Amino acid sequence: MTLLDGKALSQKIETGVGIGVKELKSRTGSVPGLAVVLVGQDPASAAYVNMKKKACDRVGFYSVTHEMPEDISQEAIENTIVMMNKNPNIDGILIQLPLPKQIDTTKILELVDPSKDVDGFHPYNVGRLATGLDGFVPCTPLGVMELLAEYNIDVKGKNCCVVGASNIVGKPMAALLLNANATVEICHIFTDDLKKHTLNADIILVGVGVINLIKEDMVKEGAIIIDIGINRADNGKLVGDVDYANVNAKCSYITPVPGGVGPMTIAMLLSNTLKAAQINYKEKN
Ligand code: NAD
Repeated sequence: MTLLDGKALSQKIETGVGIGVKELKSRTGSVPGLAVVLVGQDPASAAYVNMKKKACDRVGFYSVTHEMPEDISQEAIENTIVMMNKNPNIDGILIQLPLPKQIDTTKILELVDPSKDVDGFHPYNVGRLATGLDGFVPCTPLGVMELLAEYNIDVKGKNCCVVGASNIVGKPMAALLLNANATVEICHIFTDDLKKHTLNADIILVGVGVINLIKEDMVKEGAIIIDIGINRADNGKLVGDVDYANVNAKCSYITPVPGGVGPMTIAMLLSNTLKAAQINYKEKN
């Protein structure tokens, strides 16, 4: 069994982004800028935003966080986005999800300028991904594809079972795999007999948020397991959706949690923001 080391690869990608920032700065005098909207006091969201901010600092981005109270109005968030869309120092805009109940999240995401949509959540970019065109791709599934490529794992013709069908993880994961010529099945909460599907898979990619959802008897010998889930166990430790202790001996490759997909997500955010800055600069000149 080989561990898919997302931490090591993310550091390599960060180094590359840092070089790209220096190159852009020497050529244009400006550095990539990322704006983050953080609404409310959710500790997990605040922790993610903090990690993203630190990563931006490490690679030399300009970054700004718009912190807003839980009871913020739709209009106030929309005004902030309009402002960031116009700001030439901002190349990427990230709305930390979930937003509070009174906010229409779809409307907010649709307001982000698609050329600054570094999370790839705008329907324009979702459509480009679905049709196999270049655009911004959601960071987590993009990170998974980079990790597979790093270990020379070609998904072409492989049976891939994606468990979880959210707009952020499962659906774009499935689209990327399909674009890379995998045979893709998508399972979700209403899937009957999940085991029947996972047992048939050469690669299982699970992002659900249920501890130990994927157990030893659901995995075929030699399968590749990508655990996208992040859960807090009763003992306080971070764990994924896979019963790692019992599954890992059966796999050919597996991602650890933490240290697998998580760091790749942040690395891809940096990489998408650098890409946005490079394109925006080209279009301005
Ligand atoms: P979500 O709640 O939006 O979607 C969960 C999906 O899982 C849904 O499609 C649902 O149908 C499915 N599901 C729920 N219970 C199931 C079950 N018992 N069997 C099969 N399918 C089931 O969640 P999300 O935002 O997509 O996040 C999913 C997980 O991925 C969470 O643990 C989250 O923390 C993690 N996540 C990790 C990263 C990362 O960087 N590694 C990034 C985003 C999300």
